[in-house]
Amino acid sequence: RYSTAAALEEPISPPVQVSYTQHLINGKFVDAASGKKFPVLDPRTGEAITHVAEGDAEDINRAVAAARKAFDEGPWPKMSAYERSRVLLRFADLVEKHSEELALLESWNTGKPYSQTSTSELPSFARLFHYYAGWADKIHGLTVPADGNYHVQTLHEPIGVAGQIIPWNFPLIMFAWKVGPALACGNTVVLKTAEQTPLTALYAGKLFQEAGLPPGVLNIVSGYGPTAGAPLASHVDVDKLAFTGSTETGKVVLELAARSNLKPVTLELGGKSPFIVCEDADVDKAVELAHFALFFNQGQCCCAGSRTYVHERVYDEFTEKAKARALRRVVGDPFKKGVEQGPQIDSEQFQKVLRYIRSGIESNATLECGGDRLGSRGYFIQPTVFSNVQEDMLIAQDEIFGPVQTILKFKDIDEVIRRANNTSYGLAAGVFTKNVDTANTFSRALKAGTVWVNCFDVFDAAIPFGGYKMSGIGREKGIYSLNNYLQVKAVVTPLKNPAW
Ligand code: NAD
Repeated sequence: RYSTAAALEEPISPPVQVSYTQHLINGKFVDAASGKKFPVLDPRTGEAITHVAEGDAEDINRAVAAARKAFDEGPWPKMSAYERSRVLLRFADLVEKHSEELALLESWNTGKPYSQTSTSELPSFARLFHYYAGWADKIHGLTVPADGNYHVQTLHEPIGVAGQIIPWNFPLIMFAWKVGPALACGNTVVLKTAEQTPLTALYAGKLFQEAGLPPGVLNIVSGYGPTAGAPLASHVDVDKLAFTGSTETGKVVLELAARSNLKPVTLELGGKSPFIVCEDADVDKAVELAHFALFFNQGQCCCAGSRTYVHERVYDEFTEKAKARALRRVVGDPFKKGVEQGPQIDSEQFQKVLRYIRSGIESNATLECGGDRLGSRGYFIQPTVFSNVQEDMLIAQDEIFGPVQTILKFKDIDEVIRRANNTSYGLAAGVFTKNVDTANTFSRALKAGTVWVNCFDVFDAAIPFGGYKMSGIGREKGIYSLNNYLQVKAVVTPLKNPAW
């Protein structure tokens, strides 16, 4: 069935070294103020890859002080926009030059297949910086035709020190979504990486130094949420906070931001996104896309198509083929050729996914395949498919964040729109149909920040991404992200000689 052998083999040693394990503060790699370190684990084995500096409030204070000074005294925010653009371009070029090491490191730390990090994530990472480099010298205000004899203009100014907290599921991509627009607009940054995945951000920090980014403009602190993330969210010298992670933690950081200095907050949170297969769909193609929508990245995507709604007329055929596809999924060492799925990120997520699988079985959903761990080492889980899933089952309501597909049956469009929208989340949705009218109905009716029609997980740098409802506040990527990092100042001057 699944390639158990691959999971059980000796882990392949990636040909890359971990060179950066300290915080990056004020242009220097430094130890934690406390001297403490914590282990970074290999999800294939649960063993330590290395140990990195463990940040706490004092490291955050030092990083914020450096970012504050770099913002208030320059040169970054005052530098010509063209110069800033060139630093970002040089960085993106360096990423391309070092993309193999970065992809190896990203796969080692996260368990993502190397085929994914090397062909998808690294090119996207570089592309995002090329994209925002292009924006740096195209950000400008307006002249406003106000009543009365006034010359009115708006200045679009950087907001100041940006605090950014990112998760473990896409360490480099999340770095780019946050750091790219912040730097393009002339801000300075303190980035807190996820405790599971600090390695590639530090490597990228080194490349930024090589690209000529002035000291203090980008500071990177590794550490845990409550001890390093919380002090950043509540820091009074941080002017803006951007967070990606769980909805639960999103609420915590929003409150910390409000209680400290009311800094504006953007949030990218969880989801339980519907993927809807209509009766006219080409079933083979729908099966493949629904499989990708759920299983991509070990199922660890905030926008995973994790409620697969299938029209009753094609339901049986779809379910049979979805099961066959999951059984063909190649699970194993991320560095082995042909592997589609690696391990889950850590023991906590692994146990959580297995708990949800047990809950699905107990609630009498039909377990079509999978349902257990794979091998006896690391955090590998069998690709799992449940059919006959009912709306009120936990597996249909909660974000599982693992390789568990849940298939639900529907009869008509209005009914499935109501069911798809009946959730506190609203991050994304997928629709699979040949009918343009059906596609248009769904894309207008679904309450989600992204609707993918006959495609899924298309993440161009220019396409905005974010959630309705409890999936978040604000949008990242594209032109929309610039607003998160700018202040708008209205400047009003009387006209001396209105006749002219
Ligand atoms: P999390 O929200 O706990 O962690 C995300 C980031 O927030 C990490 O950097 C973490 O250190 C930090 N953090 C945690 N507690 C904090 C606090 N009190 N103050 C400030 N920062 C804090 O997410 P997780 O524990 O990594 O995963 C839990 C669940 O979150 C997952 O099972 C999944 O459902 C969801 N998740 C969603 C996304 C997404 O992209 N939307 C990403 C990762 C996880």
